[in-house]
Amino acid sequence: MADKNNNQSPQNCQSNEEDEVWAKMNSLTKKIKNVEIRHTHFTIGRASGNLIQIKDIRLSGRHCIINRMLDENGKMIVCLEDASTNGTYHNGSLIGKGSTRELKNGDEIFLLKEGEGVSTEDEIGFIFVVLKDFSKAEQPNSQDKANDQEKLEKEIEKSRLEINQSKEELEKKAQEEQKIRKQISQMADQFDCGICYMTMHQAVSLMPCLHTFCGGCFSDWLNRQKDCPSCRENVVEVKKHSLINCLIENYLNINPQLKRSEEEIKHLESLNMFKNDIVNIDKLLEEQQKQKNAKLQAQQQQEQQNKDIKMKDESENNDQEDPDGLISSEDSAEEELPQKRVMNKRGVKTPIPKPTKKQQKPIRKIPVTIQNKKKAVAPAKKR
Ligand SMILES: [Zn+2]
Ligand SMILES: [Zn+2]
Repeated sequence: MADKNNNQSPQNCQSNEEDEVWAKMNSLTKKIKNVEIRHTHFTIGRASGNLIQIKDIRLSGRHCIINRMLDENGKMIVCLEDASTNGTYHNGSLIGKGSTRELKNGDEIFLLKEGEGVSTEDEIGFIFVVLKDFSKAEQPNSQDKANDQEKLEKEIEKSRLEINQSKEELEKKAQEEQKIRKQISQMADQFDCGICYMTMHQAVSLMPCLHTFCGGCFSDWLNRQKDCPSCRENVVEVKKHSLINCLIENYLNINPQLKRSEEEIKHLESLNMFKNDIVNIDKLLEEQQKQKNAKLQAQQQQEQQNKDIKMKDESENNDQEDPDGLISSEDSAEEELPQKRVMNKRGVKTPIPKPTKKQQKPIRKIPVTIQNKKKAVAPAKKR
């Protein structure tokens, strides 16, 4: 039989006072005070190393342990582990050294139970009271909070990434825009005609040097020279530049201030000889020469016909006139007028004034036929 120890009041040896009281052991006997439980691993025994020391010789040095833990689902579990020689009782039954029982709110724990060597008065028993359920209150909340925090951080990280991405995209776009602008301005230089220094209209490229000009501008140039205005290389062929014309059209739609007036466009188009996709310059010039020659021939024929008619008229007039040319009258002076009008048409700029009666005699002294022949033949000889 073990001796009774008079000092049975439990001594709280819990070191960390800041720990929250999460459970209580309400004493069932007056001589033992209630015990507050703060630790998750709560030791009870006779020895001084326990969190609660009860100095009764019948208790083991380490009598029992109350463990608070969480199961897989985060639910709080409290277990009572029997570490005693004489036994710890849970709801009236012995647990046995090394065994554990799950403790629920309101369960009975007896360290000394009435029996062999233990009177009813000697019993040391408690009612276990849970003050805080970590699984239902704080624990899941903190879990939720942690989850929320995690979610929030993820969201923030995501937003950061998105912001960075949009920044990068904006930078990329700005760079692309700059690149396009540069390309357009470079292109714009290439769109300029080296003859009129304006954006090309009906652009053609010269072969083989590949320089480009307005079709109208180069046609005009070709009347004087047969080489490239830029590099002076002999031009063999002229090609319509459909691609550059298409680009120029789009470019002018974006920059309408660079468009030419309708009048200018009409003028350029009237000059443009390059209506076909490819034009051989030698053939073109040959064709032009032929056309010129034919025109000239037709002109000369017309002139000859006019001359013949005039000469015929004059000879008829002379036959009717006084053969000595001494008769002077107003009628004969008026007959000379049609001849002088014809002369005006042939390039005599200042009109010859109608002869007065005083001037008629000296004119009459030179035969009219000779005078007319000299003046009519002179322009034809120059050609
Ligand atoms: Zn031009
Ligand atoms: Zn060239």
